[in-house]
Amino acid sequence: MSNETIPSIPDLGTRGDTITVFAGPCSIESTEQFEEVAECIKDLGLTWIRGGAFKPRTNPHSFQGLGEEGLKIMKAAGDKYGLKTLTEVMDSAHCELVHSYVDGLQVGARNFQNFSLLKNIGHVTAKSHKMVLYKRGFAGTIAEWLAATDYLTAEGNTNIVLCERGIRTFETATRFTLDIAAVPVIHKQSLYPVCVDVSHPAGVRDLVPPLAKAAVAVGCDSLMIEVHPNPPAAKSDGPQQLTPAQFKELIGQLRELAALFGKEIV
Ligand code: PEP
Ligand code: MN
Repeated sequence: MSNETIPSIPDLGTRGDTITVFAGPCSIESTEQFEEVAECIKDLGLTWIRGGAFKPRTNPHSFQGLGEEGLKIMKAAGDKYGLKTLTEVMDSAHCELVHSYVDGLQVGARNFQNFSLLKNIGHVTAKSHKMVLYKRGFAGTIAEWLAATDYLTAEGNTNIVLCERGIRTFETATRFTLDIAAVPVIHKQSLYPVCVDVSHPAGVRDLVPPLAKAAVAVGCDSLMIEVHPNPPAAKSDGPQQLTPAQFKELIGQLRELAALFGKEIV
């Protein structure tokens, strides 16, 4: 698809003067857990909540997510707090199901080159034009990433957000190496908005604020940040999740920084 045919996305203020935050827990664990985060997001005047219902866990014995029950919790919280919802779809067999519950569908890093999943997501969102947040794979190049967007857009949905979430390098001090240069590179090469997931490359919560500030400074269009009411008790990614209080403090700082660039955090 040529750049000229990619429309702007009013919802996301594409490449404009807003930075959309996709915040929420790594996994949806219960109504109480999810609603506590939803309330915090709403109070901060943000618009989206994320959370995993189907979790791509490296270890098959780790928590796999609540599945459809998680989608129900997410939908109820989205309706109650007036937030848009984003969750990962891991399997082609779940595309219709996930699509029926949420506002945005996420392709995870581990499915970066699962082309049949990409085609199926393009198919289920062909009419709705629901947002698809497409994460970069651990070893995916920017060229491979941009080329594969055509699988998603083939049936007409160009509401795609590319999400940089860190890649594998020789460096082990962080969980993944955040390729911050991906943001301006993609901005030069396409019209897609770029999200930076600052939680998964950080791996630990004290690295989340500096990476988020770097992402805003480099010109990201959206941010993904994991937030959990009680991170030590989280069923996945506890060490990197912010508490609601830490998240609130960070959003305040990011709002000041974004204002320097004439942008608003939403
Ligand atoms: C996630 O966002 O919950 C997730 C599993 O991320 P990634 O696919 O980037 O590892
Ligand atoms: Mn996670």
